[in-house]
Amino acid sequence: MKYYITLIFFIPVIIFSCQESGKTSHKNVTAKTDSINAGTKSGIAADQTENKPGLLLKNSDLHDSSFVFIKNWSDDFVDDMKYATEDNFMKKKVYDCDQCMIRKKVALALINANRDFIKKGYRIKFFDCYRPLDVQKVLWEVYPVEGYVANPYTSGSIHNRGGAVDITLVDRENRELNMGTGFDHFGEEAHHAYTNLPQAVLNNRRLLKDVMEQHGFKSIKTEWWHYNFGEARSFALSNFPTECD
Ligand SMILES: [Zn+2]
Repeated sequence: MKYYITLIFFIPVIIFSCQESGKTSHKNVTAKTDSINAGTKSGIAADQTENKPGLLLKNSDLHDSSFVFIKNWSDDFVDDMKYATEDNFMKKKVYDCDQCMIRKKVALALINANRDFIKKGYRIKFFDCYRPLDVQKVLWEVYPVEGYVANPYTSGSIHNRGGAVDITLVDRENRELNMGTGFDHFGEEAHHAYTNLPQAVLNNRRLLKDVMEQHGFKSIKTEWWHYNFGEARSFALSNFPTECD
């Protein structure tokens, strides 16, 4: 009799435990599938919302256009995201996140370029990467000069498509190479065609440009620090905010 009472007491416990276990397992599968699906969708709506879960994944299944934090893929970069500080031409912090976020395909090209720089004793430091369209409007309000700041009300910036980076090089002691001007110097001294600079500065700019071009990036006339990834215009304009831990 005692045996039956014990059994009657335990059977509901066993059944309840199995149900909980099944629920948990189902939840895990659903979450994983959602993340992967989110990373493979494209288009403006997907970029603003559903693409975000892909940010934290290091997953080869992610679509080329998924956004990733490059530090999740490589430890070899230096982040100095100027718009996440007040050390920029607006003297205003406009990003919540101080890490470089970029499309996966661009991230992979940057990793390959950085590998070449590392062989030469340098590595890439980021000043800016993906930039939400709303932040582009803030930049445009302060400095509405095309050639330096892209008009957010026409085509926007390649930064808004997650396909451009603002970078410099640092040496093994993390010292920036002399590029002749600082980041966001809006003047002819920052132009690629401006050659009235010490030979060492011209060599540094040339090194940056040569390696970036070998990996599918293109420079623009007015900013030595800005590089567009070749296919970036096919990426959608995006406007989800920069958020990280
Ligand atoms: Zn730029």
